[in-house]
Amino acid sequence: MHTPARVRFAPSPTGYLHLGGLRTALFNYLLAKKTGGQFILRIEDTDRTRFVPGATEKLMDALSWAGIHPDEGPHHGGPHEPYYQSKRTKIYQDYAEELVKQGHAYRCFCTQERLLRVRESSQKTGRLVAYDKHCSYYTEDEIKENMEKELPFTIRLNTLDDTILIKSDGFPTYHLANVVDDHLMGITHVLRGEEWMPSTPKHVILYKALGWTPPQFVHLPLLMNADKTKLSKRSGDVHVEQYIEKGYLPEALNNFVALLGWNPNSEEEVFSPEELIEKFDLKQLNKSNAVVDIGKLDWMNKQH
Ligand code: GLU
Ligand code: ZN
Repeated sequence: MHTPARVRFAPSPTGYLHLGGLRTALFNYLLAKKTGGQFILRIEDTDRTRFVPGATEKLMDALSWAGIHPDEGPHHGGPHEPYYQSKRTKIYQDYAEELVKQGHAYRCFCTQERLLRVRESSQKTGRLVAYDKHCSYYTEDEIKENMEKELPFTIRLNTLDDTILIKSDGFPTYHLANVVDDHLMGITHVLRGEEWMPSTPKHVILYKALGWTPPQFVHLPLLMNADKTKLSKRSGDVHVEQYIEKGYLPEALNNFVALLGWNPNSEEEVFSPEELIEKFDLKQLNKSNAVVDIGKLDWMNKQH
């Protein structure tokens, strides 16, 4: 009846799992279960400057408490481990080199000082440019010379904003790693928070350059406080961990976050885990922002 969906939750280990992250994970999971597909957990840990030690373990504990388990992992057998992007850097580098070969990307040898100067002068002229394409004009010989001198370089996508794909430490940026993995892992639907919407056009350009068909993108509405301000990570309510510690039932918290931005199309609000799977439908996702009313969680916890 349904084509099996292959989906992923792809958090960066930069802190605690918050309600928005749990909702993203849950919606992906529900779609996989509903369609008889697979749910993958992928740790996007290639930004070493934002890496928080212990964050991945905490995240996995919270997901497993919520009953959200990956259907596969990099190794066979046993409980499934997540995929770690930091262990896959060679894969991304190879694709970036391929893009350079085909002229879709180029090496940028600019120093931090030069990039800073470009940014400053662009601010002065009011013509905001991320990068002035300086290195895209090098000749083959000049590039060879720079390589022989072993100058550090990044790899930039040859497009409007010359997005960096590979950093000078050899690690990929979010954009490249995300696209390469979604393709290699056969992801059919990308369900993620609306804050990632601005990245999507870049990703589509990358899919094209790599000769791949993009998955279906679905962006989930933002979570808001009752006063319509953006639910911030600073407001104490958002960390999932506290609800675990306070002894809330995972069924209740899942039920609560499931109804943030998704409309079950019925008067009923209390759903068992099985009912959530059965009822889940992408077409029922709301376009408008979802208001988080934590009081409701207490009520829900009593119903489960
Ligand atoms: N690593 C991104 C995050 O932290 C993933 C966004 C996506 O799902 O593409 O949310
Ligand atoms: Zn450059």
